[in-house]
Amino acid sequence: MMRIDAHVHLFPPEIVPEIQKYTDKDPFMKLICSSPKQKYASVEDLLAVMEKDGVDKAAICGFASRDAGLCRLMNDYVLAAARQHPGRLLAMASVNPLDPGMEKEIQRCHEQGAAGVGELFPWGQMFGLEGPAAGKLASLCQERNLPLLLHINEDVGHYYAGKGDVSVKEAADFAGKYPALEIIYAHWGGGLFFYELMPELREQLQNVYYDTAASPFLYDKNIYRVAREIGILHKVLLGTDYPLIAPRRYLRELHAAGLTPEENALIEGENAHRLFFGPKTQ
Ligand SMILES: [Zn+2]
Repeated sequence: MMRIDAHVHLFPPEIVPEIQKYTDKDPFMKLICSSPKQKYASVEDLLAVMEKDGVDKAAICGFASRDAGLCRLMNDYVLAAARQHPGRLLAMASVNPLDPGMEKEIQRCHEQGAAGVGELFPWGQMFGLEGPAAGKLASLCQERNLPLLLHINEDVGHYYAGKGDVSVKEAADFAGKYPALEIIYAHWGGGLFFYELMPELREQLQNVYYDTAASPFLYDKNIYRVAREIGILHKVLLGTDYPLIAPRRYLRELHAAGLTPEENALIEGENAHRLFFGPKTQ
């Protein structure tokens, strides 16, 4: 079985000491970076934890800032890492949809081997999912068959740095507007997957995947069995949000949740493999 972590954040080590230069210009980034939970991981850190926890491949994101220059530095870092570790790392492009250079940056990253775009933060980067910038982003990703990883969080529950107010309704509407776009909604889509019990939402969310990022901080492990009952296990991707939480903690929960080994394998890698390497329909 191939194990794929679909949601990891790396940070170029040379940027960490001068992070304040950037956070002064980006309040969202400042919020995230000053959280006591914030950690920075390099390629080497990630490869070590993958080795230790038995992860074969990881989709690596930088941090999508409002500053296009910083996004480019993040992209250079993850693109180089993916080039140096082909078969092991997949680069995800960080862009700011409100930046006029978004199209060029997606093109540049795609040409250099990016496998997707994200994780983007509609709330933190201040682009509404209903607006023209998100529409442009959707068509660019769709044209290039690049899966789009978007941060969506639950609308209820405890506060944490980075928790925004983009609703599951906005997420559902966005998916409905761009039905051919492959979307990964992070953090179980903020609970959006529940509504796949409604036939019209199941249809509307056909190309939506959900990752498990931060699940141990948010949900009881029974969420995996709930996902099975809803009938969406073929759309759930192991995503760790590493360095926030290491893979082993997810695997421990998943393996204690009561799914079959075949069902675990879907979440641990088969779904992500199909998404990133499977034949494209268009
Ligand atoms: Zn997120």
